[in-house]
Amino acid sequence: MTAVTARPLWTETLYSSYGQSFRVDEILFEEKSAHQHLLIFRNEQFGRVLALDGIVQTTEGDEFIYHEMLTHVPLIAHGNAQRVLIIGGGDGGILREVCRHKTVKHITQVEIDPSVIELSKTWFPSHSNGAYDDPRAHIVIGDGFDFVQTTQERFDVIISDSTDPVGPGEVLFSKDFYAGCQRSLNPGGVLVTQNGVPFMQTSEFTDTATRLSRLFKDWRFYSAAVPSYIGGLMTFAWASDNPDLLNVKLDTLHQRWQAQNIPSRYYTPELHLAAFALPRYLLDMLPGEYAERVR
Ligand code: SAM
Repeated sequence: MTAVTARPLWTETLYSSYGQSFRVDEILFEEKSAHQHLLIFRNEQFGRVLALDGIVQTTEGDEFIYHEMLTHVPLIAHGNAQRVLIIGGGDGGILREVCRHKTVKHITQVEIDPSVIELSKTWFPSHSNGAYDDPRAHIVIGDGFDFVQTTQERFDVIISDSTDPVGPGEVLFSKDFYAGCQRSLNPGGVLVTQNGVPFMQTSEFTDTATRLSRLFKDWRFYSAAVPSYIGGLMTFAWASDNPDLLNVKLDTLHQRWQAQNIPSRYYTPELHLAAFALPRYLLDMLPGEYAERVR
């Protein structure tokens, strides 16, 4: 019987009544930046883990699920996205996946905390995988909320890869932020956002539904199961004034996906379509017309 050496556990503080703990095999970095507390540690199961203000942001082990689904679903649905805006995403995972798309000619990424970018380059090199050096990538240090209110740039796809709606991330779940994204989209464009785990973050889910429904012609949610985002299905919000984007047939999705020749470990065209099918308990949280509209 090998002695299990006592190693400290790190417990996520996102929820007061329920949580997850990781055995900390090695603390790699910790500091309080101007915006948030940053912690990076190594765990045998998940590899390196990034936590901001006590909340898991990303892990080496399961980051592919979230980054592939938040990127490829809107870009393959759009079919010819040339200008992409990323809000947040300091770890570089979204930027890496966007850079894999040949149609994309220009990427603007607006990240409030430069520490996250620099630390992720050092401690999570596989997340950005050199994407920060891609000539198409233009990094802006600032608040994504302010950016979408004032930018003169226009985008085909906007991806909000924010923290949870606490601290600096809170404004990225507001009606005014969504309105700013709508003004920053080209005709036919789409906004997607990380929208939490509705089994645990119910008001985040219903609040986003209410806010998007007052702005966009077509608003939906799609989902994926991300192990380190505990509490069940992780949802992504979808908002566009172009309902055709979600009427793309499977054959067309396959043609577009194959043309990009992108390696994936989670995304498939079949899953692209299936991810928009929500379980009954989530449909019951939404206005009655939602289930009819998305049949
Ligand atoms: N995938 C993670 C998740 O689902 O929670 C999020 C990853 S990424 C680390 C979140 C990023 O959002 C962080 O780098 C954080 O600094 C950034 N962020 C938070 N609030 C922001 C704001 N108002 N404007 C721009 N970036 C923001």
